[in-house]
Amino acid sequence: AKALGKNQYHFFSDEMNSSVQNHFELENRLRRAITDNELELYYQPKIDIVSGDTVGFEALLRWHSADHGDVSPTVFIPIAEKSGLIVSIGEWVIDKACEQAKQWLDSGFPAHISVNLSARQFLHTGKPNRLFELIEATLERYQLPAEYLEVEITENLMMHHLNESFSILEKLKNIGVKIFIDDFGTGYSSLSYIKKFPIHALKIDKSFIDDLVSDDNDAAIVTAIIAMAKQLKLEVVVEGVETEQQLAFFKDNNYEVVLQGYYFCEPLPANEIRYIYE
Ligand code: C2E
Ligand code: CA
Ligand code: CA
Ligand code: CA
Repeated sequence: AKALGKNQYHFFSDEMNSSVQNHFELENRLRRAITDNELELYYQPKIDIVSGDTVGFEALLRWHSADHGDVSPTVFIPIAEKSGLIVSIGEWVIDKACEQAKQWLDSGFPAHISVNLSARQFLHTGKPNRLFELIEATLERYQLPAEYLEVEITENLMMHHLNESFSILEKLKNIGVKIFIDDFGTGYSSLSYIKKFPIHALKIDKSFIDDLVSDDNDAAIVTAIIAMAKQLKLEVVVEGVETEQQLAFFKDNNYEVVLQGYYFCEPLPANEIRYIYE
């Protein structure tokens, strides 16, 4: 019994070790991903339901690791956030998105690009406006009008880092960068902050869209968010639209929203996006 206990201990401990090792291995590889040219931005269109026009793109990070293959952002973004690597990776994302928007703009393809921001990017003790200054300098460097860059932040980021985020977001809004609240409905923001913060749009989280057609509660929540946003003069973006029935829900109710999801287009590399729109 003792031996078995020992073996079991080893078994669990090896498994734990390998997951910890894997974490550090990924973190180490991620540390070099920028210089090794393994990162790429994909772009997913956002479509206006009324006009059918594409009104912008969300930039979504991809990691093509030489050692680990394609690693999902749901795996490597949390590692990047914990290790602090997200600060330099986030800087790379802002740079590439601006470069791409400028390149498209100059070739007659004006496209708004939104980037996802993590809490860590807002936190810089001693240099509270670092993120703002970085974005401003990047827009300047590429000579990109600020309206072509948009940012997506989660409710939780806004709530947990009120002081750090408020002044940066205010400054971004003042130069013309629009702010989207991502995964709306899943966090715990108080509605009064939605009104106080310089927000342009709410992105309704995909979890409310998945069963929209069959679940009356989800339909009620989505309807309530759209009604509230209208009163507050905020735009609404709907994430994760995958089916014609989901699209019909918004069309039949005459909801004037912006839609994003596999039904229209999955995230694609920049050259394929350009190909579709040519
Ligand atoms: P998110 O910001 O909520 O992005 C939406 C996710 O849903 C993306 O996953 C997108 O590919 C996926 N998606 C879009 N339409 C559909 C659909 O119709 N069905 C389904 N099932 N999924 C859909 P992705 O690209 O794997 O990114 C996952 C998360 O990783 C993002 O969630 C975001 O939180 C984070 N992320 C991605 N890129 C960045 C980045 O550059 N910076 C930061 N900080 N986070 C990022
Ligand atoms: Ca997002
Ligand atoms: Ca989202
Ligand atoms: Ca989400």
